[in-house]
Amino acid sequence: MEYPEFTISELIETYSIEREEWIEAGKPLRSAEEIKSIHSICVSCPHFQPKSPTKGNCRLCGCTIKAKGKTLNKAAWGNKKCPDNPSRWPSGSNEAGSN
Ligand code: SF4
Repeated sequence: MEYPEFTISELIETYSIEREEWIEAGKPLRSAEEIKSIHSICVSCPHFQPKSPTKGNCRLCGCTIKAKGKTLNKAAWGNKKCPDNPSRWPSGSNEAGSN
């Protein structure tokens, strides 16, 4: 599979749009357990590009996925979902891995 090449400015623009959507949604945040669960799903996904044992990037959307922490971590934002079709984990809290 060929993955899109994201430039830094595209990643910054995507982040700005996603952040705006997250703010409009009321800044929903997942629990530490849910974030860890999503990271585990990503680690076993063929679209995941690991950078370290606790961090990596989704090659479909370019977003960073971390095992913990709420800064620059797509898994932490409760309104975000996996970009794959079908989604490997859904938007919303307490639903990670149940899609
Ligand atoms: S966000 Fe979805 S497609 Fe991307 S690495 Fe994680 S599970 Fe895979």
